[in-house]
Amino acid sequence: MQVRLKYAGIDAAIISDVAQAIGAVADEAADDTFYAVANYTAFPPLVKELDGLKDDDASSIVSHAVTRADGSAVPTDIAPVELSRPLRIVYLYPDALNLYADGGNVIALERRCAWRGIPVRVDEVHMGETLDLTDADIVMMGGGSDRDQLAVAHELLAQKDKVAAYVEDGGTLLAICGGYQLLGRSYYMGENRIEGLGVIAAETVRGSDRLIGNVAVKTDLAPEPFVGFENHGGRTLLDADATPLGTSVVTGTGNNGDDGFEGIIYKGVIGTYLHGPALPKNPELADWLITHALERRGDAQATALLPLKPLDDTYERTAHDAAMKLLP
Ligand code: GLN
Repeated sequence: MQVRLKYAGIDAAIISDVAQAIGAVADEAADDTFYAVANYTAFPPLVKELDGLKDDDASSIVSHAVTRADGSAVPTDIAPVELSRPLRIVYLYPDALNLYADGGNVIALERRCAWRGIPVRVDEVHMGETLDLTDADIVMMGGGSDRDQLAVAHELLAQKDKVAAYVEDGGTLLAICGGYQLLGRSYYMGENRIEGLGVIAAETVRGSDRLIGNVAVKTDLAPEPFVGFENHGGRTLLDADATPLGTSVVTGTGNNGDDGFEGIIYKGVIGTYLHGPALPKNPELADWLITHALERRGDAQATALLPLKPLDDTYERTAHDAAMKLLP
């Protein structure tokens, strides 16, 4: 939640008990209302805590106050850098491919560019619209149910040459779960073979059960494992000469639960099963994509932005560590 608010431009402090939370707002205007929102499990302990506070006077509550975040973690007013044209992010089929908030990957990319002053533009492509990848710098496809995935397959197969040309030219593309499966040669649903775009050396076969849960995978892109959540029926097998994104699965199943691999890296393409969305909790992956896109531009202005200016990723690390703690 803290990371989500950060990406919306709001700096939020994490406060771990109700008395401290009330204390933090108790010096605001006296008629302020304090809202405590609890999920099902947290509700009884919250009510108990609120009951316990009934007899406390205001001053003892104020004394619980914690120091509020000072806003420094959310950079604003960054001077724009010169770039021949804004970095163009293309989000394919948000209506069909956006499971587990995969669209958050686009927000993460857009913000991480903006926080560095890199001019950025996001275009959504919807079903029925003609795909134009001529000046695309980063393409994002999320995951979707088999039904939505099938609809997108129909839509994209007719325009498959454009995607293939973009990928072969080194275009940057992030594809999550169903989107990742679509990039392979085929997706078998029992006897039924759904033709894929065939731009990566992989194919997927739907299994009898679903692979669901938190995942952590070691990669060559970051010192810490990448974390996320997977929920897929398809098992993806990479060809022997393909390079996996996750070289070993720490927890979860990854591509298929057998070979210990997760996802794929091919030229500028990252395919992965990590939902969540993946990029806010794994900022190195976001910056790999931005770096790759700027390298492909190749001109002096884009090259001058590399290596990318480091950002304050304290909140992202906290979210990453929280996800790591959920692992069995
Ligand atoms: N339909 C695919 C599967 O279940 C992808 C699901 C997803 O994107 N999470 O294998």
